[in-house]
Amino acid sequence: MANYPHLLAPLDLGFTTLKNRVLMGSMHTGLEETKDWNRVATFYAERAAGGVALMVTGGMAPNREGGVFPGAAGLFNDQDIANHKVVTDRVHDHDGKICMQILHAGRYAYSPDCVSASPVKSPISPFPPKELDEDGIEKQIADIAEAARRAKEAGYDGVEVMGSEGYFLNQFLVTHTNKRTDRWGGSLENRMRLPIEVVKRVRAAVGEAFIIIYRLSMIDLVPNGQTWDEVVTLAREIEKAGATIINTGIGWHEARIPTIATSVPRRAFTWVTQKLMGEVGIPVITSNRINTPQVAEDVLADGCADMVSMARPFLDDSQFVAKAMRGEADLIAPCIACNQACLDHTFSGKMTSCLVNPRACFETELVIEKANASKAIAIVGGGPAGLSTALACADRGHKVTVFEKASEIGGQLNMAKTIPGKEEFYGLVDWYAASLAAKGVDLRLDTEAKVEILRDFDEVIIATGVTPRDPSIPNEGGHVVGYRDVLLHGTQVGDRVAVVGAGGIGFDVSEFLVHEGESPTENLAAWKEEWGVGDPEETRGGLAPEGPQPEAPARQITLLQRKSTKVGKGLGKTTGWIHRAALQMKNVKMMGGVNYEKVTAEGLHVSFGEARENPQVIEADTVVICAGQVSERSLADSLEAAGVACHVIGGADVAAELDAKRAIDQGTRLAATL
Ligand code: NAP
Ligand code: SF4
Repeated sequence: MANYPHLLAPLDLGFTTLKNRVLMGSMHTGLEETKDWNRVATFYAERAAGGVALMVTGGMAPNREGGVFPGAAGLFNDQDIANHKVVTDRVHDHDGKICMQILHAGRYAYSPDCVSASPVKSPISPFPPKELDEDGIEKQIADIAEAARRAKEAGYDGVEVMGSEGYFLNQFLVTHTNKRTDRWGGSLENRMRLPIEVVKRVRAAVGEAFIIIYRLSMIDLVPNGQTWDEVVTLAREIEKAGATIINTGIGWHEARIPTIATSVPRRAFTWVTQKLMGEVGIPVITSNRINTPQVAEDVLADGCADMVSMARPFLDDSQFVAKAMRGEADLIAPCIACNQACLDHTFSGKMTSCLVNPRACFETELVIEKANASKAIAIVGGGPAGLSTALACADRGHKVTVFEKASEIGGQLNMAKTIPGKEEFYGLVDWYAASLAAKGVDLRLDTEAKVEILRDFDEVIIATGVTPRDPSIPNEGGHVVGYRDVLLHGTQVGDRVAVVGAGGIGFDVSEFLVHEGESPTENLAAWKEEWGVGDPEETRGGLAPEGPQPEAPARQITLLQRKSTKVGKGLGKTTGWIHRAALQMKNVKMMGGVNYEKVTAEGLHVSFGEARENPQVIEADTVVICAGQVSERSLADSLEAAGVACHVIGGADVAAELDAKRAIDQGTRLAATL
């Protein structure tokens, strides 16, 4: 096999064979809760058709008390079984295999009815759990086994028992959350009793020829987590209890170490899974920040695991495996691990999707099909809005021309990729370039589109983006620069810097300025040291005994905003804490509620409150303006004046809090209608 020989090799499980080594890991999408089973089935069927060997559904609750939130989906009755059968049938029609994840949230359940080993409230939930008695524990085991039996009846090829990320089964394993003195707590044997019993009972409920994946927390990343000996002992017992495969879980949800965000190095935790190789006789899957076929291939070739789990990459591109097989890796839409449209949505109660691929989970609603007639379409602007629109228009059979006045495509993405921790944006820009070429889009770089040229097209789309806002702070001899000067043009910046504006770009610029030399995201050892990731063989839970050891900041930064709310409040729901923590580790001073008075050679002069009291000078050699943007609409205005109709999208349409997610979604939806 020419391409990716390890990744594309089959895996024989005895009673069934997986066609390659790729697992689509579990993701809670919110699809099941819509109760539109055709929509759920279409999501999974598209991915089965794309060649992935095995998929795992989002977590299904085994009972009401174990649901992640009240009303969480599960297989509670015959109708649920019939609904899930719609999904499994469609997956099997495409030669796919699918396991249902059984997720009991324990104390992470967002409900006053949540249950656990002991009444120890989690730091990420407002509800203290009820301590289960012997009968209560038996009920949970029976409910999980019954959920597995129902999954088999619904046509699933197996189940994944969720035993990691700090959920119910994990909560029994460590003394941090298990304070019991009966046969379910205390000694390791007692703490392991629940997960082992669960796997035994699930196996008894489903019979032999049925996949049981056990997701096992291999590095808890919380104080008093498991030791490595405990992890290995548990894994062996789980194998004996009847599991078919062991999957890797990294970190509890309450861990204060990022595990999947974009600043986490690629394959940052495969070394943990590798430790388990040879300790058990069943296949082992590794996970986290694996997002290209080459990375996955290398992980397997290095002997880190028997199989690789990728989840979010299948939101970006359902055809990941098929394209890898065809040697078209450069055409796989990359997951940049931003969480902006997937986990941030999930945790805000919104339908999951993908920043790069707005069709993810909207497959039945946002349909890109061949247009009745091919049109000549001009797109002005080669940023994310324009490029996504161009690709979708080309897919529809239109003849597309993109005009970009710069010498390269990417727009604002070219700034993002310069930030330490955001190197994934390079891959995104490269993917746009490869896809434009593959789809025959006529790309005209260094070209300013003129009204007279645009007049000749059937449709004109303006995606000219934004220009930085000038907050007009009086400058009396200070050094003031814009964020584009710093990120794109290499303008020199002094040792003491005041950053005006604490939105996504203010944070990015601060991150850029506190680092010097190699980005920790490109150097696993440095990244582990920075965040305090140790070895579970040496310390419980794998937390480094000395804690986080960040490098000294390259500059002294003050990050300011006028709002009096917490600085960074508007950042991503699941990633904002990482950006704030990263800057705090670099001693960045964050100040809210300021008025900007003036800049002098001394620095930035601010005052506070409506009465502009308590004047203060933020001593700074350079002031960097990151005060948001305004729409760049001059071409749209000229077209309107000349009577040429156009569609305005992305930042050119609305600049306020513009982000790539909205721009790409808007452009793709427009393309679907042309
Ligand atoms: P932004 O998020 O809109 O933030 C603009 C900042 O400038 C705010 O802190 C605002 O705070 C301040 N500001 C606004 N008007 C001002 C004025 N007249 N004078 C002084 N300060 C002013 O814009 P951005 O930071 O430029 O980012 C643009 C978009 O790119 C973001 O919305 C985001 O979606 C995207 N982005 C995202 C990320 C990410 O990590 N997800 C990273 C970079 C960029 P006050 O009004 O309180 O002063
Ligand atoms: Fe990946 Fe971002 Fe898409 Fe989520 S939204 S799947 S993290 S690219």
